[in-house]
Amino acid sequence: MMTHKQDEIDKSSLQAETKSAAQPPVLEAGRRTRFAPSPTGHLHLGHAYSALCAWHYAGKDASNFVLRIDDLDHTRCRPEYVDQIISDLSWLGISWEAEPVFQSQRLSTYADALETLQKQDLIYPCYLSRAEISDLLSAPHGPSTVMPSTRDTLDNQMRQAREEAGHIPAWRLDMQKALAVTGPIYWTDKFGDAHLARPEQFGDIVIARRDIQASYHLSVILDDYRDGIDLVVRGADLKNSTDLHRLLQILLDLPAPNYHHHHLICDETGKRLAKRDDARALSAYRKQQLSPQDILSLLPDIS
Ligand code: GLU
Repeated sequence: MMTHKQDEIDKSSLQAETKSAAQPPVLEAGRRTRFAPSPTGHLHLGHAYSALCAWHYAGKDASNFVLRIDDLDHTRCRPEYVDQIISDLSWLGISWEAEPVFQSQRLSTYADALETLQKQDLIYPCYLSRAEISDLLSAPHGPSTVMPSTRDTLDNQMRQAREEAGHIPAWRLDMQKALAVTGPIYWTDKFGDAHLARPEQFGDIVIARRDIQASYHLSVILDDYRDGIDLVVRGADLKNSTDLHRLLQILLDLPAPNYHHHHLICDETGKRLAKRDDARALSAYRKQQLSPQDILSLLPDIS
């Protein structure tokens, strides 16, 4: 028989990444928010916290809350995780508008946006292999994480040869050109304060992967727009990505939602919980017969 093992759970082993969590949250009920997990593993306490933060800002009102399944990366997503996500969230007491939405059903929207960017010559095809890209990033001035332009890296003959051999390119954003179009840009937080965005930190980032002809960055802004999201609530690990998302919104002429980046839930070593951290999967806690209330007591206050 399963036993209630709450006393074995050591809350002190979990911590919110930012220590100054003492500020009371400003209740902004009635915002339209979403939770957008990728079905590549079990939801853990960090996901529960993220979903609960978004649910809080939606005023715990299902008509203001969208569950979006980010299943764009078909190589890693599994249907059984979708079922588990739905079951775990319902168990936590979260509900959402209508049916969950699936990115895999929106591929034509991403393709249209890609075409719009192509027409403006803001993206370019990249036929380089992984090895060639890592060479490019490692030489000659020391390793870099900012993706340089690969627009002119392959000579035309080789580019043509790869094209003719049927290689499918990835599509990269021409960052310099994009910034010349937009000038300085800002995103706005949940209080309405403006933050200077620095999308140049990403360099010529991939906007469409060769295998799926889309990317997280492209799909997320289109989905948030289509789902009518006016406050994007997600973890602080995605704060830098917001800089890029704001850039893409401007290039695609989309209105901007406000953004809120909540604290991250970390383990005792200060590392953010990861999908492979199965011991902290909600499903594992459920098997131990913890209640949703027990889960809440393991988590910091909403940030
Ligand atoms: N599917 C993304 C993730 O799980 C969603 C990120 C976002 O909320 O924008 O990290």
